[in-house]
Amino acid sequence: MAQLSPASLRRLAAWAVGPCLPAWAVLLGLALVDRLGWITALVCCAIVFVLMAVLVLTRLADFDRIIRYAEELLANPDAPSPLLHTSATAQRLLSGLTALRKLWADRRDEADALAKSRQDILDSLPDPFFLLDRRRRVVSANAAARALFELERGLTGRDLAGVIRDPKVLEAADVALAQNRKTEAQFTLPAPVEHTFGALIVPLSATAQDGTALIVALHDQTERLKMDRMRADFVANASHELRTPLASVLGFIETLQGPAKDDAEAREKFLEIMLKQANRMTRLIDDLLSLSRIELREHTRPTEAVDMGGLLQNTVELLDRQIKERRVTLAYNVASGLPAVLGDANELSQVFHNLIINAVKYGGEQGRVDVTAEMSDTRPPSMPGRGPCLKISVRDYGEGIAREHIPRLTERFYRVDNARSRELGGTGLGLAIVKHITNRHRGALVVDSDVGKGATFTVYLPAVAT
Ligand code: ADP
Repeated sequence: MAQLSPASLRRLAAWAVGPCLPAWAVLLGLALVDRLGWITALVCCAIVFVLMAVLVLTRLADFDRIIRYAEELLANPDAPSPLLHTSATAQRLLSGLTALRKLWADRRDEADALAKSRQDILDSLPDPFFLLDRRRRVVSANAAARALFELERGLTGRDLAGVIRDPKVLEAADVALAQNRKTEAQFTLPAPVEHTFGALIVPLSATAQDGTALIVALHDQTERLKMDRMRADFVANASHELRTPLASVLGFIETLQGPAKDDAEAREKFLEIMLKQANRMTRLIDDLLSLSRIELREHTRPTEAVDMGGLLQNTVELLDRQIKERRVTLAYNVASGLPAVLGDANELSQVFHNLIINAVKYGGEQGRVDVTAEMSDTRPPSMPGRGPCLKISVRDYGEGIAREHIPRLTERFYRVDNARSRELGGTGLGLAIVKHITNRHRGALVVDSDVGKGATFTVYLPAVAT
């Protein structure tokens, strides 16, 4: 009784009175026809009521426990089921409720697993991704988006305007929602490093249960835009490089056809200059063709085993004329028994041809150039893989290169001193070719220089495993 609420007590009175009525009617009827004394009849009525109340009470207590259990389940789906004492019906009701609770728990676990796998899928996408509700607020975001926007209070619940402040993106999101169609926009994030993103905004055909109505997928376009710009710059630079000698050759042809027609001395001089310019154009075209050939093959790793000692020796011999012309002393120091390199012999000899010719050119007349090859136990950070590798250095003792130019030396047509490079017959492509070839060989190029003391260009190449 102590466990019963006032509502239950009221129910008890109501439930016990109904079943007592037939017995009470019979007892009172008997008293009315004098077959039973009034006192006896009333005592019997009271006894019937008490017996009925006890009977109802035991069952009602069980039902009351079930009602309280059902109320508790709303707040706590893991609430323990109550112990019942008597009623088989109450027991069946409880079993039904427990089965229902298990079904809900299974459904809830399934929904949780589904939500988690959806989040895992979103998190595994490399591009930033948001799900927005109809009011443009973030419902969820993937790991890439969280990392990109690094907002202190998190992304969930924020208006898109608090995340991407670009009006073009916000307008595109509004249009996507209002007109139920896919929209796109481009925006730039200035910090920490400027990046340009494309945003693809797709409305869902029906709003999801969690409120998701819009998908915003971002794609970093910085690299592609940079490549486009570089390609356009490259075409402009290459045309410019070719136009200059061509204009000079055309100029001399006109002079030779006109004013200097009969001037034998001028003719000799001009023809010599024209030959030099034509050679410059040939070198430029050769280098451009090499570069495009190397770029085409850059992703396939060469498979030949190349003996670097022999290759370096041949390359130096081929440059003998230029070395002698500039009266350069070449110190050749290649360790014996070096392991072979997995490579393309033609490309590798082009690498060392370009580096040695640069050292000869920029090292100054009567300078000294050291060519050294040895094994190295460590690889530079820019080289992929681990383990020992071949380290081949070309060192000169010329003017050297100021620190700020070093990172840009391998860009096409980048020259520290334009006039000097042209005067020495440079195309501005030699080091770009070196970089692409070392990349194809999974190697690395490291440049070290002190102004006034010279420069060292070191190529690291993976050795064939022995
Ligand atoms: P170039 O045909 O002009 O020599 P490269 O691509 O071979 O083109 O070299 C790019 C620039 O790097 C050169 O113009 C020069 O300014 C600088 N450079 C290359 N090698 C050396 C070196 N050994 N010493 C000083 N500067 C160098």
